[in-house]
Amino acid sequence: MTVLVTGGAGYIGSHMVHALADAGESVVVVDNLSTGFSAFLPEGVPLFIGDAGDENLVESVIARHRVEAIIHFAGSVVVPDSMRNPLGYYRNNTMTTRSLLNTAVKCGINRFIFSSTAAVYGNPDQVPVPEHAPTRPLSPYGMSKLMTEIMLHDVASAHGMSYLVLRYFNVAGADPLGRVGLATVGATHLIKIAVEAAIGQRAKVDVFGTDYPTPDGSCIRDFIHVSDLAQAHRAALSYLRNGGASMTLNCGYGRGYSVLETIEAVRRVSMRNFAVQYAPRRPGDIVTMVADTSRIRSTLDWTPQYDDLDTIAAHALNWEQKLSRERGDLVQHAAASA
Ligand code: UDP
Repeated sequence: MTVLVTGGAGYIGSHMVHALADAGESVVVVDNLSTGFSAFLPEGVPLFIGDAGDENLVESVIARHRVEAIIHFAGSVVVPDSMRNPLGYYRNNTMTTRSLLNTAVKCGINRFIFSSTAAVYGNPDQVPVPEHAPTRPLSPYGMSKLMTEIMLHDVASAHGMSYLVLRYFNVAGADPLGRVGLATVGATHLIKIAVEAAIGQRAKVDVFGTDYPTPDGSCIRDFIHVSDLAQAHRAALSYLRNGGASMTLNCGYGRGYSVLETIEAVRRVSMRNFAVQYAPRRPGDIVTMVADTSRIRSTLDWTPQYDDLDTIAAHALNWEQKLSRERGDLVQHAAASA
C-alpha cells in the first residue's frame, strides 16, 4: 500500500517524501512543479506532474499505486501574496482540495492528512494558542486553509474518512543531511531571508514592525524544524492506521522567538553581522503566534529532535550555502556548454 503525497516536490513535501522513503514506505508524488523541484525526490519515487485537483490524474495514480492514504501539501503558502491575490489562494488551496477530496471519496481513501496553518487563528486572545481557540484568519491564505478544514471535516463525517488537520506554526530549517531545503526563488520567510543575507545574497534584512506590543517590539513566532514536522506526519499516519479519531493538532514547539531574536540566531550561527533595517509593519501579520503543544504531544508518538533555534538556523544556513554552490555550478555548466 502506498502513500500519496501531493506537493511532494516542494519544501515541506520533499522532507516528507524523504522521511517516508527512509522509513521504507511506498510513496508516490503528485506535484505541478509550480514551486517544487523534481530533483528533490529520492530515487525511485514516482512523480506525476500535474495538479492535485486534477481528478482524472489523481484517480489514475490512486488506482495504479494502490494508494491507502493521502498527505496533502500542495497549495500556496505566502501570506502577503494572498493579500494581493485572494482568488488565486481560494483556487489553489480551497478549490484544489475540494477536487482532491472528491477523488479521495470516489476512490474510497479513508486516511487524509491536511497541511493547515496557525494563520487560521488570526491574532489569538490566548498565547500559547490551543486548538479550540477561535479561528479568525487575517489573510486570504489563512481563510483558504480554514475553509478547507471545514470542508474536510464535513466530507470525513459524511464518508467515513479519518483525518488529521495539522496546523503548522513557522516551519524552517532544512534536512540535516542536506538533501533538500527551501529553494523557492523570491522566498519571503524570515529565516530564509536572514540566511540569504548571511551568505551575501542580499544586502540587508528588513524587520517588518518594531512597534508591536511585545518585549522588543517585533513579532513573535514558534519555529518548528521541517524534519521534525515531517516526523510528526509519520506519527500522524501511524495514528490514523491504528484507528485514531479525526482531530486537529498544532505543530510547533510551544516556544516563541521575536523576529529580532531570530535574526540574532542567524547572525550567531553564521558569524556574519549582516545589516538589519527597521521597516513598517507588513499587512496581515499576526503579532504573537506560539503553539499550545499539549494535544499533539499527548496524541502522537512524536519526539522532536531539533527543538533549538540555533540548530534550525544552522541547517537553513548549510542548505543555503549548498544551494548557492550548486546554482554557481549550474551557471558555470551553462556557460561552458554555450
Ligand atoms: N519578517 C520580517 N522580515 C522579513 C520576513 C519576515 O520582519 O524579511 C517577519 C514577518 O513580518 C513576521 C515574521 O517575520 O512577523 C515571520 O514571517 P514569515 O513570512 O517568515 O512567516 P509568517 O509568520 O508570515 O507565516
